[in-house]
This record gives sequence, C-alpha cells and structure tokens, in this order.
Amino acid sequence: DMLEEVDLRQLLHNTCTLLQSEANMRGIIITLELPADSLFLTIDANRIKQVLINLARNAMEAIDGQAGTITLVLEDSGDRVCLKVKDTGPGISASDLPRIFNPFYTTKPTGTGLGLSISKRIIEEKGGSIAVQTEEGRGTTFFLYLPKHPF
Ligand code: ADP
Ligand code: MG
Repeated sequence: DMLEEVDLRQLLHNTCTLLQSEANMRGIIITLELPADSLFLTIDANRIKQVLINLARNAMEAIDGQAGTITLVLEDSGDRVCLKVKDTGPGISASDLPRIFNPFYTTKPTGTGLGLSISKRIIEEKGGSIAVQTEEGRGTTFFLYLPKHPF
C-alpha cells in the first residue's frame, strides 16, 4: 500500500466529485458534511476511496430510481476518525442484515456480493472497523472508523 498523509476533507471532496455524474444520471443528490478543521491521516488514499465508492454505489443501487440523497460525512472522533455514507434508500431487512458482509451474499440479480466483504477487509487491515445502522423505509448508514495512530 502507498501510505501518505491524506487530507480527509479533500479525499471526501474528490470522491463526491467522482460520483457526481452517476448520481446526476440517477436523479440522486450527493452532499458532503465536513468538519471545520482539517483532518489528516496516514493511509492509502486509493484504498479508502475504493471503500467509499463501494458504499456509495450500493447506496445508489438501493435508492434505485427513486428520488434520494447520499451524504458523505467526516467526523473527528478523538483517537479515531469516522467516515459515514448515509442514504435515504429502503433500508436493509432484518433477515438480510446478518449476511451483508459475507462474501458472495447479494440480493441483486447480477450482484457479485463482494463489495462489502472487500470493504470490511480493507478497513480492518488498517486497524479500523465498519458498522451499519439501518431502518426499513428510512435508509441506511455505514460507519467507517479508522484509528489515527494504528498499532
Ligand atoms: P452487491 O452490491 O454486489 O450485492 P455488496 O457486498 O456490495 O454486494 O452488498 C451486499 C448486499 O448488501 C446487497 O446485495 C444489498 O442487499 C445490501 N446492501 C448493501 N448496501 C446497502 C444499502 N446502502 N441499502 C440497502 N441494502 C444494501
Ligand atoms: Mg456492492
């Protein structure tokens, strides 16, 4: 991995720009919630971007033709940082929820079921963790926690 000092506000901004045209085509709004102070982390920017894109693409597929919003959030959380990908999609059913991080688990006709398992592995490799909160009919939020000083 290519470790570098990454400006996380910049990274979220770039990720948002990258997703903008696909979101526009789907009629989905993408917004950013960034802290006032800059936040740097020594990480592989491309890996984290890959995870955010996986989560945002899932969010777009979940919203699926409806009007909806995806919000990318960055928060300073003491000894770690928190990145969130929030959507206003249909949520995840209680029966699917325990399985979504399993490799090859998909509810989509042509899904691979690999996005979340790969994302989880990437985040855990960095000493971080991934969590999800969902409410059927209201939406889903994925939380990525990354330590400021891993190991
Ligand atoms: P895939 O996208 O190929 O199905 P993933 O590992 O990315 O595989 O996601 C696994 C499953 O988790 C999806 O098929 C879907 O059922 C569920 N899921 C993931 N993200 C969301 C979301 N934001 N809203 C609703 N369901 C989701
Ligand atoms: Mg996916």
